[in-house]
Amino acid sequence: MNILVTGGAGFIGSNLVKQLLEAGHDIWSLDDLSTGRTTYLKDVLQHKHHTFVNGSVLDRGTLAILMDHVDVIFHLAAVLGVKNTVDNPIKVIEGNIDGTRNILELAYSRGLKVIFASTSEIYGKNENLPFHEASDRVYGTSSIHRWCYATAKSLDEHLCFGYAQKGLPVTVLRYFNAYGPGQTNTQYGMVVPRFIQAALADRPLEVHGDGTQSRCFTYIDDTVKGTIAAITPSANGLAVNIGSSHRITIMELAQKIIALTGSKSKVVLKSYNDAYGPGYEDMHARIPDLTRARNVLGYEPGVTLDEGLM
Ligand code: NAD
Repeated sequence: MNILVTGGAGFIGSNLVKQLLEAGHDIWSLDDLSTGRTTYLKDVLQHKHHTFVNGSVLDRGTLAILMDHVDVIFHLAAVLGVKNTVDNPIKVIEGNIDGTRNILELAYSRGLKVIFASTSEIYGKNENLPFHEASDRVYGTSSIHRWCYATAKSLDEHLCFGYAQKGLPVTVLRYFNAYGPGQTNTQYGMVVPRFIQAALADRPLEVHGDGTQSRCFTYIDDTVKGTIAAITPSANGLAVNIGSSHRITIMELAQKIIALTGSKSKVVLKSYNDAYGPGYEDMHARIPDLTRARNVLGYEPGVTLDEGLM
């Protein structure tokens, strides 16, 4: 197939491009290199079935030309990262919503399949009764500083489902904390590479909050496997979780990385206030139900956290 990967020079995108090339597809990857790096694609930049385009999903002209060449679009380009989200809410909202709208409109006019990268963050949900003024949004239990990313992705999902109702073959994937080789960009707070880099340098591992917040970290090969499986028409019109079932607290993660690296590092706690400013609070737990991923995509995460970290 002829495939466009947006965000192709990013962490998940670059791994996806490599696996799609290995499977024999012709790939166009588009990235504005805002957080992505062409070095992530260095092994495949000269590949005869791969064309890298330095450009933006906000540029409809470029998108239109690329989309004339492809059958499927994996739309991974996004403005993300906790710190980025806190510091640049307008950029996060505009970059994510306008980019996805461009992709969907152009795909719809050409009848192309779209696989959209959404996030576990859209599950933020207010269950605190009675309703307090500070929890009056859909994402009430996550902090106001995170709404721009979760809300933009949530609106993107609504756009996807709106187009699905009009007949566009589109699938929404909700990723849960992907990690693995190539996730080197710690600038925006990706916790696994941040901890590994600190442990290898015997520097303190900074845990934000009290460390009891938990996540289900998903090895990149599993994330990519689920992503490629979403090409199936059975997934059209659906949102599907792509994650792992193994839950670990951030404190346990820090201790595990110290043990695995034989580091002399200590864990230090930093309040959300000191890390991100007043009012910041993170979702306490994120665990995916993988029933639909198993049934529709035949997806099963295969790599444990211990294996993935080695
Ligand atoms: P990443 O930052 O490595 O990749 C995003 C890529 O998009 C970057 O290469 C960036 O340069 C590019 N980009 C940003 N704006 C662009 C624009 N306007 N035009 C073209 N390219 C642009 O992040 P990632 O972890 O690889 O995430 C990929 C996708 O998966 C994103 O949509 C993200 O929201 C989603 N996601 C990731 C995770 C995770 O655990 N990594 C979890 C949930 C959702």
